[in-house]
Amino acid sequence: MTAIIECCAPPKRGELHVDIAAVVANWRDLSARHPTGPVAGVVKADAYGLGAKQVGRALQAAGCRHFFVAQFQEGMALRAHLGPGAMIGVLGGFGPSADAGAELVPVINSLADLKEHAEAGRDGGMERPVILHVDTGMARLGLPVEELAVLAQEPGLLRGLDLRYVMTHLACADEPGHAMNDRQRRAFAAASALFPGVPRSFANSSGLFLGEGYHSELARPGAALYGINPLPGQPNPMRLAARLMVPVIQVREIPAGVSVGYGATWTATRPSRIATISAGYADGYPRSLSSKGWAWFEGRRLPLAGRVSMDLITLDVTDAPGVKPGEMVQLIGPEATPDDLGAAAGTIGYEMLTSLGQRYQRVYG
Ligand SMILES: *Cc1c(COP(=O)(O)O)cnc(C)c1O
Repeated sequence: MTAIIECCAPPKRGELHVDIAAVVANWRDLSARHPTGPVAGVVKADAYGLGAKQVGRALQAAGCRHFFVAQFQEGMALRAHLGPGAMIGVLGGFGPSADAGAELVPVINSLADLKEHAEAGRDGGMERPVILHVDTGMARLGLPVEELAVLAQEPGLLRGLDLRYVMTHLACADEPGHAMNDRQRRAFAAASALFPGVPRSFANSSGLFLGEGYHSELARPGAALYGINPLPGQPNPMRLAARLMVPVIQVREIPAGVSVGYGATWTATRPSRIATISAGYADGYPRSLSSKGWAWFEGRRLPLAGRVSMDLITLDVTDAPGVKPGEMVQLIGPEATPDDLGAAAGTIGYEMLTSLGQRYQRVYG
């Protein structure tokens, strides 16, 4: 016999609490660590899942004047939220015919991009603002250093462009001992020397912590703003900005020997209480955390019991008698950080945050 206790109607929704003050505090903290120039807010992927509109506005109010997104559409949406007065860099770039309005600045990722924008600038009789991306070790986007030599020989190629920044991106900044960091630092120093007087943009979150050699005229952190640890393996200097609270929709008592969930992968070894909560892999909670993840309630760890389903997760709450239908349990928070859960799931905190689904109500405070 199983006893079932049901929750309330209408059912509650999961709530993603976003601590905007923590994001702003993190931005101030990073700014203090970067004395050579301002710190931008990287708000791509809807501010890593937390809300580009709210994060962007709060950072702008705090004095942030530079933002980065990945795509043109993200840039246009952010421009509408921020109004004028802030530079928005689009990391993926966009063509010269796109009507970007003022201060939406494409990142130039190839020689072909560069020629196209320069030609549009010359034809239109107005210099095009651009950020020049040099690839020093990612082999992803940006001009390879060999192509820079072409520019050095033919400086006329730059006519028509208003070069706002020359930038590069670190591949291994979260591994301070990695030889790639110093290699990229030296390659970037050589590359940026070809553009005297043009400000440089270098460090991401972890790069900011690599020391003076990685500081520039504009840092570009994303993850650390949201509380992801830029120093893996060391104490996290940032404040966590996300807390995910999910309602219990049912609690049942099962005898020893009864299995829970798809595949019957978890079996009660004692008379147990199982709470079913309203979130699943469709909400960005990885299925790989089946029987591995944990929730939190009133100081108690609640282990996942069985597989993560699309819309539901089952928890062993035998030792947490306070867990009842209608109560909210914490699925992400200080005791289960995106970094912790990411590590348990075989991924990273970045992916945990950016996967957070649209079914949660975002609560800003
Ligand atoms: C995403 C991204 C950043 C921000 O990186 P974090 O590790 O989140 O700080 C900076 N620059 C570029 C080019 C990026 O793609």
